[in-house]
Amino acid sequence: MNFHTLAARGGRDVASASRPLTAPIYQTNVYVFEDVETVESVWEGKTPGYVYGRYGTGNHTMLEDLVARLEGAEAAVACASGMGATTALLLGLFSAGDHLVAARDLYGTTASFLSSEGARLGVETTFVDATDTGRILEACSPRTRAVFVEALSNPLLLLADLPALSAGLEPRGIELIVDASMASPAVLRPIEHGATLVMHSLTKFISGHGDMTGGLVLGRKENMDRLREAMIRAGTNLGPFDAWLAVRGARTLGVRLERQSATALLLAQLLEHHPAVARAHYPGLPSHPQHVLARRLMPGPMGAILSVDLGGGALAVERLMARTRLLEFAPSFGDVATTWTYPARTSHRRLSDADKAAMGIGPGLVRLSVGLEDPGDLIQDLQQALE
Ligand SMILES: *Cc1c(COP(=O)(O)O)cnc(C)c1O
Repeated sequence: MNFHTLAARGGRDVASASRPLTAPIYQTNVYVFEDVETVESVWEGKTPGYVYGRYGTGNHTMLEDLVARLEGAEAAVACASGMGATTALLLGLFSAGDHLVAARDLYGTTASFLSSEGARLGVETTFVDATDTGRILEACSPRTRAVFVEALSNPLLLLADLPALSAGLEPRGIELIVDASMASPAVLRPIEHGATLVMHSLTKFISGHGDMTGGLVLGRKENMDRLREAMIRAGTNLGPFDAWLAVRGARTLGVRLERQSATALLLAQLLEHHPAVARAHYPGLPSHPQHVLARRLMPGPMGAILSVDLGGGALAVERLMARTRLLEFAPSFGDVATTWTYPARTSHRRLSDADKAAMGIGPGLVRLSVGLEDPGDLIQDLQQALE
């Protein structure tokens, strides 16, 4: 081979009688075939193999298999982001004329996606209070294709009664979609409670280290096949390196969430009685309005997110921002670093004050995502800031 040929083609194949303990990153956008029969067979899914980057690589399969097994799902489809996963759901599952019943406190971008793009594609969404099972079932009509709720709502950590919803929806053939990004399968596995489709923003707890953006949908194989086709055509595919990062993060999901949830409970218990705090919201507190349901759906750790209402309102929030040293203000969650955010001015900023008040989001409400730091250091930082 001459210089240019060597540069273009050399250094590709390595001989090895051993295999790597950690999977390699298949950073390729196309695969090479040896004969036409194999091309056809792989293309038709009869022989395991890969074709082209947008269709997936080994890293996507590893991620999908791993999280599917953690959730107890038949299959999964990895997507470019949580919103990419919702796009695959909308395009793969719904047709014009279909109706959807959704939680009124759904993640803001999901709600606006459904009421803008969803509506333009002919899918009508009715938003209702997801804690009211009767109200959700009443909102369903013969056109209703699915109900879409979150396992734990943002920012008040409210739960939908998944077993009761499932009992009402299943006989009517209505899918129950649960966005479980705030919980993760280490905390709540919706399929065990009757959900038929689960989605995750991998950006949050599953990857867990604040270094990638990704999403995943899980459910029955027939649904995942339809979603995968839609995802491939729509091009909301995840990159192989991000799939690899999500798997790397998921390896420690269980231990992270055990520790992060234990610290979250400790902070919730302390903050609930702090004079600067009017109210603490955490499913593990007996004062949580759905504590009994929470215990039933989350028999182990109850998640790393809590919210507190500062009695001093907006001024108290500004002071907290100026005085915290260890806690970082960042409008996301799920990292190993403890972060906090201010829903009234970030995720819920587009709502009117009246709508915010109706949803229980006051001017003093802050949401904490608890990380892996020493609990004593976190308590000290919060206490000195709240003084
Ligand atoms: C972040 C988030 C999403 C969107 O995920 P991206 O990865 O940012 O697209 C959807 N639902 C919930 C509950 C989220 O927290």
